[in-house]
Amino acid sequence: MNFVADLHTHTIVSGHAYSTLLENAKYASNIGLKILGATEHGPNMPGAPGDWYFGNFKVLPRELFGVKMLYGCEANIIDYEGNIDMPIERQELLDIMIVSMHEPLMEGGNSVDLNTATILKAMDNPNVNILGHIGNPRFPIHEEVIVKKAKEKNVLIEINNSSFLTSRKGSDKNCTKIAKLCKEFDVKIIVNSDAHFCYSIGNFAVVEEMLKEIGMPAELIINENEERLIAFLKEKGKNI
Ligand SMILES: [Zn+2]
Ligand SMILES: [Zn+2]
Repeated sequence: MNFVADLHTHTIVSGHAYSTLLENAKYASNIGLKILGATEHGPNMPGAPGDWYFGNFKVLPRELFGVKMLYGCEANIIDYEGNIDMPIERQELLDIMIVSMHEPLMEGGNSVDLNTATILKAMDNPNVNILGHIGNPRFPIHEEVIVKKAKEKNVLIEINNSSFLTSRKGSDKNCTKIAKLCKEFDVKIIVNSDAHFCYSIGNFAVVEEMLKEIGMPAELIINENEERLIAFLKEKGKNI
């Protein structure tokens, strides 16, 4: 597989990550990525940047070291109505918006029904582009229901490489199950690193192995081809 983009990365701005935007972009360029997403945690996460950070992307270059930059957010789902910690007027200006559930902000261990209903409601927001790390066992879901709605709403299911390595212990089985469902129901996925240090950017090794094992068709992996990714962004109304 030839991955051209990593759309889920953090910098020191998130408060618990360790590289700068320039370091991330330089590393992405060094490893040959074409597109990089800078997606800090939404404002409600402890240590995350405030609203003004997300409102000033106009000062940043569209390209760094030959890498096309997408400036966005990993917004937090903050209630069981699927609301997120990003004002609507900001959401519309972001290049990319991931939504995720995180334990400091949402209680883990709730019922499958409640988590599923929450994510289904979040997907009714047309500004949601990617569902972040939904294999997290702290937020169990009815995977098939979520995957089918993602198809209907043209939302990408993220398969997160960190979920297999350092984060959200116990995600690997769920992620594999989700990837198999995406294959079965013809639903697009994106493979992301969720890097909190620049050396993790573009490291999709474990997920790649899993996708090969299950025979995932390349055309469903959105960031395995630049034109395919750009086409998706255009479908979502992004002027990239
Ligand atoms: Zn996250
Ligand atoms: Zn993240």
